[in-house]
Amino acid sequence: MKLNDRGLLVVISGPSGVGKGTVRRALFNMPNHNLVYSVSMTTREKRPNEIEGVDYYFVSKETFLERKQNGKFLETAEFVGNYYGTPLDKVNEQLDLGNEVVLEIEVDGAQQVKKKVPDCVMIFIVPPGKKALYDRLKRRGTESEPIIAERIAKANREFKLAHLYDYIVVNDEVHNAADRIMAIIRAEHAKTERSIHKYMEMIEEN
Ligand code: 5GP
Repeated sequence: MKLNDRGLLVVISGPSGVGKGTVRRALFNMPNHNLVYSVSMTTREKRPNEIEGVDYYFVSKETFLERKQNGKFLETAEFVGNYYGTPLDKVNEQLDLGNEVVLEIEVDGAQQVKKKVPDCVMIFIVPPGKKALYDRLKRRGTESEPIIAERIAKANREFKLAHLYDYIVVNDEVHNAADRIMAIIRAEHAKTERSIHKYMEMIEEN
């Protein structure tokens, strides 16, 4: 018997350059799960290795702002001069199907989600040390110097926001980090408060 009809909303954040994307891909490569990734919309330029509709939906500023005005986002944020947002309809559709929906978003957007969906699970990924993160941001090589500097400044602000999250996961090894996140999701799913109503209905049936 299924005790949860609706899926969990899982928010993953962490300072820019911490390797959220890599951890998320490792998480999705694990067996036996019903996780669905929420593909965000952004006005940022597509990087050469990125695929439209897989990594992001790449749109113009006009399109983004029009969608925002029409209430089509669960949350939005501006990050280093570009807009990012989570399309609302897809998230609801997947949660209704009972799938766990994973958002990989920055901290401002994560706070908006927490307000709108208080029972979401908030996970903050941190690096094993600050230097590792700076090195990674510099090595990425897809951005210019001023953009890298801005991302480092933003990461420094983000470091301090871990207390806003339910869980902190260290990305020492990608597979370890992915394992920890899966363990959190499974434990959250089994929490009494998420299933007690359905359970009580079940035991009261003849
Ligand atoms: P990047 O440009 O490196 O792909 O992403 C920059 C930052 O924006 C990352 O921290 C990423 O997690 C975050 N981000 C990606 N999509 C969204 C979104 O839909 N909403 C918010 N608030 N942040 C997002």
